[in-house]
Amino acid sequence: SRTLAEVDPEVAQAIRHETERQNSRLELIASENFTSEAILEATSSVFTNKYAEGYPAKRYYGGCEYADIVENLARDRAKQLFKAEYANVQPHSGSQANQAAYTAVLQPGDTILGMSLAHGGHLTHGHPLNFSGKTYHVVSYGVKQGDETIDYDELARLAEEHKPKMIVGGASAYSRIIDFKRFREIADSVGALFMVDMAHFSGLVAAGIYPNPCEHAHIVTSTTHKTLRGPRSGMILAQAQFGPAIDKVVFPGLQGGPLVHVIAAKAVCFLEAMSPEFVQYQTQVVANAKALAAGMIEHGYRVVSGGTDSHVMLVDIFSKGLRGKEAEKALDEAYITVNKNSIPFDVNPPLNPSGVRLGSPAVTTRGFGETEMKEVAALIAQVLDAPASLDNLAAVRQRVAALTERFPLYSWKLPTVNA
Ligand code: PLP
Repeated sequence: SRTLAEVDPEVAQAIRHETERQNSRLELIASENFTSEAILEATSSVFTNKYAEGYPAKRYYGGCEYADIVENLARDRAKQLFKAEYANVQPHSGSQANQAAYTAVLQPGDTILGMSLAHGGHLTHGHPLNFSGKTYHVVSYGVKQGDETIDYDELARLAEEHKPKMIVGGASAYSRIIDFKRFREIADSVGALFMVDMAHFSGLVAAGIYPNPCEHAHIVTSTTHKTLRGPRSGMILAQAQFGPAIDKVVFPGLQGGPLVHVIAAKAVCFLEAMSPEFVQYQTQVVANAKALAAGMIEHGYRVVSGGTDSHVMLVDIFSKGLRGKEAEKALDEAYITVNKNSIPFDVNPPLNPSGVRLGSPAVTTRGFGETEMKEVAALIAQVLDAPASLDNLAAVRQRVAALTERFPLYSWKLPTVNA
């Protein structure tokens, strides 16, 4: 058999470079993480060869006995982990999970009440350029101008005025704990369904350090690759009554054959998430995010809502006269990876907004603790103090190298990169 490097040196080279990039930089993108080697192994397994349209014991292809085993394991573990009555582990991504959930219970033109992208929501919660905004009538809620936390009174008022068929909770850039009970009460008061997209914080939920939306919502969707630290994919959890409709929409409604290799990796992810080490990890994720937020504040930056209760935060760099685009670029050149992000009530446009979003999940997986997070805050501040100085960026790169070398990623020896 021929190795990847022999068959396709260009792809092999790109993978080597990407491995080196992940190992040598500070990964602060809040939606990213590093899976275990066991999950990498499952994702690259021979299950990638298998067609398994349908569901366990009800397939449209022969030879599915082992595919059934991994899908049953993934479904059962997901239900156990999140105390859910029903699970579908076939959605290929978070967006497809949301599309399937909406399609199962809504008709085109129905009203959904979701969090505005400008205040931290996701594209699939009703952005006009997304299928959600094109298919449904969207009303958006947001945060209060004062403390930048969700405005539940406004949410209740909008629900009363627009009588949505569904209220969507969950966000991509919101650092505070969401009051799911309050959401459900508001949904009940107008006869709406309540869905939570827990993509960002599902790892914290699995560890029991963030409220479990399955206790309040009719349907809960998630990605599996952010705080949950599994393979890049999605899933849907729900009350049992919605199961048959969701199953039918995922297959044959929206997807063909499931990605069995990724389902196998999701099964491993859910098993890992049941361990005491995972609880320790998530506890450290939150402690690290708090330490990073405190560090940014010490360096004179305003953090949206004054801090974080979770793994993520928005830092208002316009408070120091900087903008997201230049900050992201300068930090990237110093080997610190972040994304520019709008802040609530942003006076600047989305392509060059006032904020950057920072997250602790990936560096915590490497083994960083609060001491390292203080240093990360200092390094970010040093870059942003002189973003155009090449000497400054080179000095930070050296300090980043010292940090990343102390916390190597993955145990296998990194291949040498020939540039
Ligand atoms: N939902 C939320 C809240 C997200 O933050 C994201 C990803 O950024 C998604 C859904 C979409 O997930 P995917 O990129 O897997 O489609």
